[in-house]
Amino acid sequence: MTVTINADLRRERERCSFDPMELTNFWDGSKAKTSHRHELENFFLSDPILHDKIPAKYKNHKEIYEGAIMKGCRVLQKVQQLHDSGKGGMDVFSKRHLTKAFVVLCRQILGGMLGSAILKDGNPLTLHYVMFIPAIMGQGTVEQQGYWISRAWSCNIIGTYAQTELGHGTFIRGLETTATYDPETKEFVLNSPTLTSYKWWPGGLGHTANYAIVVAQLYTKGECRGIHAFIVQLRDENTHEPLPGIKIGEIGTKLGMNATNNGFLGFENVRIPREHMLMKNSQVLEDGTYVKAPSDKLTYGTMMFVRVVLVRDISNYLSKAVTIAIRYSAVRRQSQIKPDEPESQIMDYVTQQYKLFPNLAACFAFRMCADWIWEMYNNVTAELDQGELERLPELHALACCLKAVASSDGATGIEQLRLACGGHGYMDASNLPAIYGLVTATCTYEGENTVLLLQTARYLVKAWRQAIGGEPLPPTVGYLAVLSRGVKQRPWKNTLSCIVQAHQAVAAGKIRLATENMDRRIRSGTSPEDAWNKTSIELAHCAESHCRAFLVMRFVENVRGLTSVSKQLREVLMQLCELYSIYWVLQRLGDFLRSIRLNPELTQFNGRQERNFRTVTRAHGKCVVFARKSPPTAISYLAVCRRVAMVWEKRRCAARVIYIAAAQCERKRYAHRLYATHCIMQFNALRFPNPGRFHFCDRSQH
Ligand SMILES: Cc1cc2nc3c(=O)[nH]c(=O)nc-3n(C[C@H](O)[C@H](O)[C@H](O)COP(=O)(O)OP(=O)(O)OC[C@H]3O[C@@H](n4cnc5c(N)ncnc54)[C@H](O)[C@@H]3O)c2cc1C
Repeated sequence: MTVTINADLRRERERCSFDPMELTNFWDGSKAKTSHRHELENFFLSDPILHDKIPAKYKNHKEIYEGAIMKGCRVLQKVQQLHDSGKGGMDVFSKRHLTKAFVVLCRQILGGMLGSAILKDGNPLTLHYVMFIPAIMGQGTVEQQGYWISRAWSCNIIGTYAQTELGHGTFIRGLETTATYDPETKEFVLNSPTLTSYKWWPGGLGHTANYAIVVAQLYTKGECRGIHAFIVQLRDENTHEPLPGIKIGEIGTKLGMNATNNGFLGFENVRIPREHMLMKNSQVLEDGTYVKAPSDKLTYGTMMFVRVVLVRDISNYLSKAVTIAIRYSAVRRQSQIKPDEPESQIMDYVTQQYKLFPNLAACFAFRMCADWIWEMYNNVTAELDQGELERLPELHALACCLKAVASSDGATGIEQLRLACGGHGYMDASNLPAIYGLVTATCTYEGENTVLLLQTARYLVKAWRQAIGGEPLPPTVGYLAVLSRGVKQRPWKNTLSCIVQAHQAVAAGKIRLATENMDRRIRSGTSPEDAWNKTSIELAHCAESHCRAFLVMRFVENVRGLTSVSKQLREVLMQLCELYSIYWVLQRLGDFLRSIRLNPELTQFNGRQERNFRTVTRAHGKCVVFARKSPPTAISYLAVCRRVAMVWEKRRCAARVIYIAAAQCERKRYAHRLYATHCIMQFNALRFPNPGRFHFCDRSQH
């Protein structure tokens, strides 16, 4: 079958000034990585089982869950195959880091670009790789890692991460679940003393996971020792029945991510062995003696890991939305700019460009910062293993604000891009609603955004005080040292360096003002806590500005440092970089007017340059997005719909996926259950003679 390319699209592609493949390789990291991505995409997307026969919106909740489990299991089988054949792309990791590499691969596929193409509404198994295994890796002793990770890796057990409760999400010190040590039996006894202490939200908890990392208040020798993590078995490994004392179920439908099987969990005198407390940092000895961790911050590792990788995920999700909207804008013709001309491509309207290109530029900004912070994360965690904690606060502060700003800009950007597609953007077929559902959730999970910004602000206030005290500062806040000395600003120049400094001046000015306002309140008799709360809007803005200064600075530095790309591509990336930097000056013009010495030249600069950037970037914009060369299935739901042939081959697979209709008994106990299909994945067990076959329970029973 010959494929006809839309004439407008073809024309746009022909206008490209650089080799699109070069950009593809740049985006992926290298030519080899592009080939690897293509291999992965072919490997996964050519599998008919991973295609939806019926769009999710036409299915009921149970069917959505079953579909997600079926696809999730299939994806994991394929990941295992990749791993076994040495094609998982893990050569970049040393043997010592294979577990980490496998986790990264799984989350890359389950939670990343490919995963969101296959599992558009989330997946109940993602938490297993994204939180359960990393938490054990980060907080378990070597012995615990050896035992649990091998079981989790082979999917003999499926885990989730249960921290949030009905009453407390943000304020984890307020969690109410208790784990009380009983020295006689050498066990912890878990209880949910109140309704608000029920765990609420964990992905895969509803019907999928049979184990969980549970975060609870530790009591030993009659004293509360604060929150700690425990591995708790929730369901029988053979029957999938909830264990005695475990109250468990699904929380219901949500704005998006309806296939993640988020659940609730309560405990009634549930006993677990002492060895099930994750004891890499703090410990409870056999007689109940508590050994404190050298630093409270050591337990934040898992949260930090997810925040760091989320920034990259968001750049990927946004890039999908940008690609959809820019392609649409190239082929959609509507109205006329001049009455005697044919209808214009909507791309020609400057207001349309204003919706598209800043978001295109943001994809690159987020990606470059994501790569940078990922490297920092790896270095800092390596230092932690050596007992060095010095850079942890800096990483924590940066991860918090980057996650908050990227997710918030990502969600806002996707909504703008949806609007840029007119009525068609509102259709599920555009895939934009599903992408929005995934991204807007990231504003809340792994730390609610405002709260994260305030955590960064706390660090910034401290850094500001250090700066004015002349103390040395960590690199990412190094700019405060210069600006705290009240250095006179140099006259404005229309250069990128000047814009970067202006962003930093804005951040420093806001941090100074917020700190002074808070101190003034304290001096006038307000308690430090109330003063913090009263100043918190300014403080959150400080963190946002600091993050924007970092994003702009990294974007500029990265593009400037590019030596391996052609002049033409570098020029386009530089234009995107300038567009991004100026866009945020214009978005926060009030802050800039307050913090920097403006002159009429700047105003002209804004108007003239931004117009130029919009026009110039437009000529390359489509090439930039087209350059990714992702198959339509990886981007657009509509395209997926065209490939609906789903045939389940009953063939023998390396992995064994068994569904157990155990819900009937569960339903008797928990009448509020929505449906009754349960799963156990046994990748290694030989107990089941007919692997690879799905046993869905008869729907008429439920
Ligand atoms: C899709 C999704 C998946 C999730 N998956 C999991 C999971 O797998 N495991 C898990 O344990 N949890 C999970 N969560 C829960 C998530 O981590 C919490 O929802 C999140 O931490 C926010 O907590 P909260 O819901 O209690 O919000 P709240 O803290 O109640 O926030 C409500 C409002 O109060 C404000 N607020 C709260 N505290 C402060 C403060 N100190 N200062 C200023 N403002 C404040 C917030 O800014 C916000 O505007 C998930 C949530 C979602 C949406």
